Amino acid sequence: MASADTTAVPPSANGSATANGGQRPGIAVENPATGEVIAHVPDRSPDEVRAMVARARAAQPGWEAIGFTGRGQVMRRMQKWMLDHVEEVINTIQSETGKTYEDAFSAEVSYGAAAFGFWADEAEKYLAPEKVKAGSPMLMGRRMELRFRPLGVIGVIGPWNYPFTNSLGDAIPALMAGNTVVLKPSEVTPLTSLLIEKAMHECGMPEDVLIVATGRGDTGAALIDEVDMIMFTGSTATGKKVMAKAAETLTPVSLELGGKDPMIVLADANIERAANAAVFFSMFNGGQTCISIERVYVEAPVYDEFVAKVVEKTKALRQGDPSKGPGSVDVGAITFPNQMGIIERHVRDAVDKGARALTGGRRGSGPGDFFEPTILVDVDHTMSAMTEETFGPTLPIMKVADAEEALRLVNDSPYGLGASVFSGDTVRGEQIARRVEAGAVCVNDALVNYYALELPMGGWKTSGVGSRHGAGGIRKYARQQAIVVNKYPLKKDLYMFPHGKLKTGMLRRMTNVIYGRGKRD
Ligand code: NDP
Repeated sequence: MASADTTAVPPSANGSATANGGQRPGIAVENPATGEVIAHVPDRSPDEVRAMVARARAAQPGWEAIGFTGRGQVMRRMQKWMLDHVEEVINTIQSETGKTYEDAFSAEVSYGAAAFGFWADEAEKYLAPEKVKAGSPMLMGRRMELRFRPLGVIGVIGPWNYPFTNSLGDAIPALMAGNTVVLKPSEVTPLTSLLIEKAMHECGMPEDVLIVATGRGDTGAALIDEVDMIMFTGSTATGKKVMAKAAETLTPVSLELGGKDPMIVLADANIERAANAAVFFSMFNGGQTCISIERVYVEAPVYDEFVAKVVEKTKALRQGDPSKGPGSVDVGAITFPNQMGIIERHVRDAVDKGARALTGGRRGSGPGDFFEPTILVDVDHTMSAMTEETFGPTLPIMKVADAEEALRLVNDSPYGLGASVFSGDTVRGEQIARRVEAGAVCVNDALVNYYALELPMGGWKTSGVGSRHGAGGIRKYARQQAIVVNKYPLKKDLYMFPHGKLKTGMLRRMTNVIYGRGKRD
């Protein structure tokens, strides 16, 4: 928390201080595990955002000019900084999210350390010019190349569930591509971004190359008007607003949105592993992960055994204030207080329609925002717990007759982010995986595809537009330019003026020779 305090502003409730010259009150940041206010940050106005983007725009050519090697050096130093400051980063993340030490470590700090190194190493390869050969006779003798140039200033808008991974994780490839970045973190979790902005400067990042614009929704909306591309992670509802706003200026967008990730458990699966995975991947980070397991379909013969194991393992979970360090609790707090209402609504709706909560089912007692790890059975698709994103430590489990019924229900969703299939027969498991309508499907695993920075991660259907990671995860931050060079130009090419019968006849014959051959049925 120490570093973030340097940019924090005093509370405005008493009217004594404001974020920007007396016009907008600052934002109070709370620790959701304790309910304490731990800092105040500025609520940046549209005018301030405009000025920030102008500064980032002025800094961009210099940043592009230092090349991949220079930019990679800063990222490599940041990688080391992350490892040297693990406790400080984890403390900051924990203080604003209420997540466990392990959740902050594995999915944020260790992801960050990997991402700084990965993009430092791979950016140049992914953005290297590509020689192209064309089949058209119009281009005979020409040299052709596809080149990538940075877009300019990228606006990154992030959610509250992973203040490092889902904000800075996207800023790293944008920066490595030679862009500058203005980042708008969630108003609920701005401190991690401020800490990393400061660290980047310590590691040699020039001024104004990464600027953090703390604020609320209208700060994000103002950013869309100013930048050359928007990388947004958040809910599908806000993603639609972002895309509509970006359409006004034809600003390209990449959207990572909500999910309702299903898990299929086939009768031949290793039930012990499937149950462990179901509990872990639905409850870690308090279930507040876009690719959490949010619903399970189990083949009838193993349903009872699976449910019994899942309930036993869920009852054993320890939940509470995670500030006592590694190993102190398994499940942390609900980061965003408004999310609690959605979780409660989904559980109540399911129970009202006939579902049973075999464990959990209600808000935790005591200070801080907690929801008990909850297992629901006797569920179906009339219940929002099975169809809408819950984003909490809840897991509804449904019995199905066979894999075909499971697949039908899995694909009966507007979402398509991730999914998993558990089977003792990995060939059959993979066949089923390929029929799931989702951007990533794991067999006998869940979610780990996120750690494969080489693989694209993005949602189908209403779960997103575009993807992060892999070649596409950095090329989206670049303009493509086609270069065609005629090294041996003739005075005139055959197709140029004046038109003549003879020439046209020759061109037609050439076309027939070139395209008239080849195998056809
Ligand atoms: P929101 O959509 O509420 O907010 C996301 C960000 O957008 C926040 O910074 C928010 O600011 C900002 N914002 C709000 N309104 C606007 C607007 N009109 N224009 C521009 N920006 C705006 O999402 P949450 O923060 O609640 O995050 C949870 C959601 O994110 C879940 O649905 C989850 O599935 C999804 N998600 C998707 C991931 C993926 O990779 N596909 C990964 C992680 C999460 P503020 O917070 O200040 O309101």
